[in-house]
Amino acid sequence: MARKRCEILCVGTELLLGDILNTNARFLAQEISQLGLDLYFQTVVGDNPRRMEEAVRLALSRSDFLLITGGLGPTSDDITKDVVARVFDRPLVMHEPSLRALKAFYETVRRPMPNNNERQALAPEGAQVLENPQGTAPGYIVEDVTGHAAILLPGPPRELQAMFRMHVAPYLRQFSKGLILSRMVRVIGLGESRMAEMLEDLIVEGVNPTLAPYAREGEAFVRVTARGDSPEEALRLTEPVVNEIIRRLGRHVYGVDVDSLEAALAQLLKGAGLKVAIAEAGTAGLAASRLMALPGAGGVVGTSISAEHLEEINGLIEPQGPALPASPEAACEKMAAALGQRLGVPAGIAITVNNQRQYACAVWLGGRTSALIGAAPSPRDMAYVRTQAVQNAFDLFRHRLMDVAEARL
Ligand code: ATP
Repeated sequence: MARKRCEILCVGTELLLGDILNTNARFLAQEISQLGLDLYFQTVVGDNPRRMEEAVRLALSRSDFLLITGGLGPTSDDITKDVVARVFDRPLVMHEPSLRALKAFYETVRRPMPNNNERQALAPEGAQVLENPQGTAPGYIVEDVTGHAAILLPGPPRELQAMFRMHVAPYLRQFSKGLILSRMVRVIGLGESRMAEMLEDLIVEGVNPTLAPYAREGEAFVRVTARGDSPEEALRLTEPVVNEIIRRLGRHVYGVDVDSLEAALAQLLKGAGLKVAIAEAGTAGLAASRLMALPGAGGVVGTSISAEHLEEINGLIEPQGPALPASPEAACEKMAAALGQRLGVPAGIAITVNNQRQYACAVWLGGRTSALIGAAPSPRDMAYVRTQAVQNAFDLFRHRLMDVAEARL
């Protein structure tokens, strides 16, 4: 039996015009892929009956299950149910239990029920009605004789998510062949294309698991996705591939299924029983704030000094502020040494970014400063340069920690 295909249709003119972000599509897409069903299309359509009907017909012609969100409310622009009833050639009929639930809701809140609210209790004939545990509009599953179905869900994300988990996931699970599990191998110090080159045969030939490379500011990652009958089986299928990626990319892999570079760094620091001190100029405190945002950060971050206080440790920065002296690298190395020698900390990271968007970083560990990175002036904006500077500094420190740990072995 071929795998079942799902499709998502989000209804609402405010979505179409970008007034609100389509978080329902994101939620549903993730849930559908975790259920192991295929998903090939997502569409957004405004509150227009003709175009909505066109979108519903097209989607049902190419997919088994169409998940429609929004347009189930009581007002005249809430037309999803009418359109679906027309496409499936079913009349809308009063669903008494929904009507009773609606009346009970208005009695509880001690408000008269507006007449048009009765519309919310109308259901396409023969539809399965889905209770809404978070609101008043029920959802519906409308099936036709060929096994195609439209699944109508309310627009408000809280209502949609609760209804999906309670009714729709169990319904769809019957049609799923296995489940999907993804692992994220996170990579730094290699561009996405170089990384993809090194993994090319795995990416091209991978079937189960499949590999997908991605890039983000200052790092790259590979998603390894397997389909299995159980979570254990899917995990087992990913294992040899993840190990092969680590073997090929070596230390460029900073973690698997970790949240961020700083989270990986914090794990290493904990393992080494170290706290790191940070001195940074021109980064708006980015390095310290990223580390401090981690749970339990107090255990791994020591002194953190920002530009204004740098003179206090070494007079390294010119009185006018974070503009760098002639060699950014040299200044940064001195800052790292000052952390170690003047503050007496065992581990330190120093970062500078100047007004010409040059950055440099240096680290102090094991009683000496180590390699530092200077970058040419960048045409990119300041936020990008700061991110690059911090990513490079964290990575430099990570390498140095691993060198020290290996030397001790
Ligand atoms: P209601 O009974 O509240 O009218 P509804 O099912 O008719 O619900 P809509 O009127 O389409 O849903 O949307 C209600 C609200 O839900 C929107 O104003 C918006 O805040 C949110 N919403 C709708 N669709 C989405 C979406 N795709 N992603 C995120 N939020 C959404």
